[in-house]
Amino acid sequence: NQKPSNKMIEAHELLKKFYHHLLVNTKEGQDAYDYLINRGFSREIIDEFEIGFALDSWEFVSKFLTKRGFNPQEMEHAGLIIKRNQNETYFDRFRDRIMFPIADLQGKTIAFSGRLLKEIKGQPKYLNSPETSIFNKSRTLYNFHRAKKHIRKNQQVILFEGFADVISAVKAGCPNAIATMGTALTEEQAKIIRRNVESVIICYDADSAGIEAAHKATAILTNVGCTVKIAVMPDGYDPDDYIKEYGAEKFQNDVINSSLTFMAFQMRYLRRKRNLQNESERMQYIEDVLKEISLLTKAVERDHYLRQLAQEFSISLDALKEQQYQVYRTEK
Ligand code: ATP
Ligand code: MN
Ligand code: MN
Ligand code: MN
Repeated sequence: NQKPSNKMIEAHELLKKFYHHLLVNTKEGQDAYDYLINRGFSREIIDEFEIGFALDSWEFVSKFLTKRGFNPQEMEHAGLIIKRNQNETYFDRFRDRIMFPIADLQGKTIAFSGRLLKEIKGQPKYLNSPETSIFNKSRTLYNFHRAKKHIRKNQQVILFEGFADVISAVKAGCPNAIATMGTALTEEQAKIIRRNVESVIICYDADSAGIEAAHKATAILTNVGCTVKIAVMPDGYDPDDYIKEYGAEKFQNDVINSSLTFMAFQMRYLRRKRNLQNESERMQYIEDVLKEISLLTKAVERDHYLRQLAQEFSISLDALKEQQYQVYRTEK
C-alpha cells in the first residue's frame, strides 16, 4: 500500500506518457501535433518537454486510470477527474487540449496545464490543474528541474510569463528559462530562485499587464536578495512571438543581453510618456525621474542616477538635489 501522494504522482507520470503518445503517434493527436509544428515547436522540443494531447472525451482518463487500479476518489483529489454531483460517476478535467506536464522541483510530474488548439468562447485558453496535496502553485516553477543545472552554471535565471515562452527560449539557446504558473510571482517562488542564483532577468510580455507584473516581480525578488534586470521587447510582443519573428541571435543580443536595470527600465517607461523636445515636458520628465531616484534605498545608486540625469540634461547636480528635496517634501 502506497501513500496517496505517491499514487497521485504515479497517475500523473503515467498520463504524461500516454498524452505524449497520443500527440505524436495517433490520428486523434494529428491536429494538435500540426498546431505545435505550425507554431514552430520541433519534434525534438515536443519530446524534450513531453508535450501531449488529451482526447476530446469525457471519460478517457477515468477509464484509463480505473482500469489500472487507481482509486477514482484519489484521482479526483489529484485534480485529474471531476465528480458529477448527481451520482458516483466522474468525467475528465482535460479534454481536447494540448497538455504541458508540470513538474515539482525534483522533476516529478504533479500537474498539467492544457491549452486549447483554437479559441472557444467561455473556455480558458490555458486550464491548469487545481491546487492539490501534490501541487502548490505558489511553490512551483515551470521547467525549474531541467533549468537548475544551467541556472547554477550560468549564474543567472531568466523568468518568463508563459510556458510557450520558456519552450521557445530553450530552443533559442537559453536553457536557464523558467516561468510561474500564469500567476504573479510569489515570495516562496522568489526564495526558491534565490537559493540557487542571485541574478534574475525578467522577460515578461511587452504589454501593460507584463510591465505591471515586472514591477511587482522586481520588488519581490529584490526583497529576497536577488539582483534584477528587465528585458524589453517591441510593444505587443511576447518572447515566443519575438523569437519566431527575429530569431534566436537577436533575442540573445537585443533582448537578453540588453536587459535593463530597474531604474533604466523605469526611465525608459517615463520617457515614452513625454516629448522631450518640448521644454515643459522635459522638465516634467526630470521631475518624474527625480521621484523615482528618491525611492531608491541605496545612497550610492541615488548619486549615480542623479549624476546621469545632470549630465544628460546639462543641469547642475546641486540644482537637481535641491529640486529633489522639494519633490520629496511635496510628496510627503
Ligand atoms: P500562447 O502563446 O500559447 O497564446 P501565452 O503564454 O503567450 O500563450 P498569455 O496570454 O501571455 O499566454 O498568458 C501567459 C500565461 O498565463 C500562460 O502561459 C498561462 O500560464 C497563463 N494563462 C493565460 N491565459 C490563461 C487563462 N485563460 N487561464 C489560466 N491561465 C492562463
Ligand atoms: Mn500576456
Ligand atoms: Mn504571452
Ligand atoms: Mn504567446
